[in-house]
Amino acid sequence: MAPSRPRFPLPLDAVRSGDRGPGARRPAAAPEPPMLRPQAPLDAAARDRARQTVPAGLGLDSEQVRERLIRRLEAQGLRDPRVAAALRAVPRHLFVDSALAQQAYEDTSLPIGWGQTISKPSVVARMLELLIAPQPAGRPLRLLEIGSGCGYQAAVMLQLGVSRLVSIERLRPLHELAQARLAPHRGDRLRLVHGDGRLGHAPMAPYDGIIAAAGGEALPEAWLAQLAPGGRLVAPLARSPGGPQCLAVVDRMADGRLVEQRHEAVLFVPLESGVA
Ligand code: SAH
Repeated sequence: MAPSRPRFPLPLDAVRSGDRGPGARRPAAAPEPPMLRPQAPLDAAARDRARQTVPAGLGLDSEQVRERLIRRLEAQGLRDPRVAAALRAVPRHLFVDSALAQQAYEDTSLPIGWGQTISKPSVVARMLELLIAPQPAGRPLRLLEIGSGCGYQAAVMLQLGVSRLVSIERLRPLHELAQARLAPHRGDRLRLVHGDGRLGHAPMAPYDGIIAAAGGEALPEAWLAQLAPGGRLVAPLARSPGGPQCLAVVDRMADGRLVEQRHEAVLFVPLESGVA
């Protein structure tokens, strides 16, 4: 029997597992994990700036410097070798201002201008691990990112065996920054869009994975509509404007049903409307 089509927009409660019918389940109660703070306050980033973390004699281009970060992330729980390899492949220092490059391999967020920050590597790792967990290794992925920022996470996603990546940014200067940083990757697989990511990008839908680097109070209708069967959405979500956020994961099952889980508390910049 075909399930009834969900009506949009879906408030968080409507995609709770309890409403999803047979087979849906709530995640088992687990101890509260620590809050992930991908966009730490800028003053903290400025404070961090004083610290020199690259051992004397090692340049930022050194694979050893990047490898140290990957090993730290693995010690913190990173398990998926596809995500570890993707993070290993991308020189993060090339995506931040040269004055901040010395901190690029610390697990910290850094300012990228216009009040925005590049997410912490551990948060990028966690979200990408969740994003591709349902996908078998080796299958080309069609991915959508909301919030290109400086383009770092998009560069990591391009290493995940994508057949197509669309990344949307609402702030034109950051869209242009991502274009510049990702210039070596321009081509058929990558499309950078200046626009309101809440609308997704219908011309290239559907997507096997949709990831948002900014959080709103509801999951936009377009994201759920553009999620392929077997696909997964990972996004920060708040219950009320400015309220606490958690990581929401929504799977579109093969029969079209949506199943939602909620994970740890996070703190992302707000998902804004319109473009600037
Ligand atoms: N993935 C980025 C992190 C960017 S921070 C990186 O690796 O650098 C979040 C970004 O989301 C900001 O650049 C912000 O401008 C953008 N953003 C917020 N609301 C948006 C929306 N509705 N559409 C597109 N981008 C949005």
